[in-house]
Amino acid sequence: MDLIQFQKLFNKEPRYRLGQAKRAFFHDLIKNWQEAMVLPLSLREKLNKECPIGIPAKTFISKDKNTIKALFTLKDDLKIEAVLMRHKDKRNTICVSSQVGCPLNCAFCATGKMGFKRNLEISEVVEQVLFFARYLKQIGEKITNIVFMGMGEPFLNYQNIIESITILNDKEGFNLGARRFSISTAGIIEGIEKLAKEKLQINLAVSLHAPNDKLRSKLMPIDKKYPIKKILSSIDGYIKKTRRRVMFEYIMIKNLNDSKKHAQALAKFMNKPFYFVNLISCNPTGIFKPSSLLRIKKFQEILEKEGVIVTKRYRFGQGIKAACGQLAISDNK
Ligand code: SAH
Repeated sequence: MDLIQFQKLFNKEPRYRLGQAKRAFFHDLIKNWQEAMVLPLSLREKLNKECPIGIPAKTFISKDKNTIKALFTLKDDLKIEAVLMRHKDKRNTICVSSQVGCPLNCAFCATGKMGFKRNLEISEVVEQVLFFARYLKQIGEKITNIVFMGMGEPFLNYQNIIESITILNDKEGFNLGARRFSISTAGIIEGIEKLAKEKLQINLAVSLHAPNDKLRSKLMPIDKKYPIKKILSSIDGYIKKTRRRVMFEYIMIKNLNDSKKHAQALAKFMNKPFYFVNLISCNPTGIFKPSSLLRIKKFQEILEKEGVIVTKRYRFGQGIKAACGQLAISDNK
């Protein structure tokens, strides 16, 4: 829906009407304004005409039914994807996109291969969330976490992402606690610095993927502009200001960044308070293969021996091309 148009429609209404409409939209998760019975019929009709709230999407469900991918067609016919992951511990995490495509072109990521089209608007980000909130409502469940780890680089669309989170966090809006949001960045320093100054207490993750710039710049061309040292110094500033933990994501790629030497080099600068490393098995997107489980276990042991806090990411949705790095649209013109 067009959020600006939505606000405008309430300019001449009594003040409480906007609150009622927001409640129907974000809390009751109505799919059509006719369902908002608290509003007068004439207003519902006007809203349906000038501010429709249908969110058309095609869904793909994994065999185990724990991963659901939604494909959205935007108003200019471009397409994006978002993914719902239903964890065993009852968490329902959704992974949302921040851009159509991505300009960063990381070697292991399918999104980069499709190039960059444009930034997503605030309403396009919010709608990905509402689509899954409506979906889960049918089975009596709710979204518990939102991660900006879908298509695109959130910090290259900084303002719209922060405003989307503000709406989704707002008590009068979707009302999801700030700590339930995570932004993952390839290391855009300006974004890290700006986030440190925001009031929102959201989580931050950084895609590291290599212990040195020589290897990292081969995997992530953006490393030339934002090398590891500069990223770490901005992260240290962020931690000093926010006292929040920061996750460093590390994809385990077979015979590329997964040796004992790589682990030792990484441990040298990751064993710091407030830092933790998240090991991710590389999802197939092209030439790279995932490290074996044994190799990942050894890597983890070396890090832990050196005092690094390590977590491992559970793999979701490979069968429907919904796993990390697999989101890509082949027919975006
Ligand atoms: N641009 C942001 C967010 C999008 S990607 C970033 O770079 O962080 C979200 C996460 O998925 C990142 O850590 C990214 O590096 C990771 N990822 C990309 N391709 C992957 C793959 N093939 N296997 C596993 N993780 C991948």
